[in-house]
Amino acid sequence: MRTAHFSTLIVAFAALMTSLPAFGWGEKGHNAIAHIAQNHLTRRAQREVTRLLEGHNMAYWSSWADGLREDNRYDFISTWHYANADEGHTYATADKNPEGDVYTAVELCVEKLREKGLSDSLRSLHLKLLIHFVGDMHCPMHAGHASDRGGNGYAVNFRGRKTNLHSLWDSQFVDAAHAWSATEWAENVDVKLGRDARREIEAGTPLDWMEQTVVVSHSLYAGTPQNVSLSWDYINKYAPLVEEKFMEGGYRLAKLLNEIFSR
Ligand SMILES: [Zn+2]
Repeated sequence: MRTAHFSTLIVAFAALMTSLPAFGWGEKGHNAIAHIAQNHLTRRAQREVTRLLEGHNMAYWSSWADGLREDNRYDFISTWHYANADEGHTYATADKNPEGDVYTAVELCVEKLREKGLSDSLRSLHLKLLIHFVGDMHCPMHAGHASDRGGNGYAVNFRGRKTNLHSLWDSQFVDAAHAWSATEWAENVDVKLGRDARREIEAGTPLDWMEQTVVVSHSLYAGTPQNVSLSWDYINKYAPLVEEKFMEGGYRLAKLLNEIFSR
């Protein structure tokens, strides 16, 4: 009896999960990126960030923007979590969403934070959004094909479970790659980089970073066959990619904030 109830609950929960829209790196990915970024802020940026975040660190706010989807006052930012590019397209050549996308969102937040005379409440809002959207910008399936809604319509079978490419890369794969907490991700992945390696990660602009994620997304479609059971080979092949995207997201977020708060 108890088992029957439990399995009914599992089925109901699984149905709920598959019907929910996917929001970007799961909370863990956003947290890990924010932890990495926090560790690389200059003292000055650290002070200003902490003040604007009401004493909290960046990880505390890193998934906050996903929760705004349930608040209709923030409907205007609902498309800001992703930027789709179909096969054969770069971000530059893809059709743009007139409501904005993750690249325009990052640029807008940076511009707002640089604005002289902006109120603290608006600075705080745009900082919280920037922390989140830099994470989304480094989430490969947030640059997925428009034709399958960023991989939501691309069925895959991962470790015996039916899922889709978007959902797999938002969270399931992160946990499969390493069963770590967000702080463990940050500690274990963020090994001390030499100056050259750090410069290499930080190089470029948000537009370059967006284009890099589009390239990674295209490669994931090519490397993820539909209706084939993916398991350890797939995890071994792509775990380093998650590590790389978390590192890039973290270092680049720190770079943007260090520049913004240097004056
Ligand atoms: Zn998001």
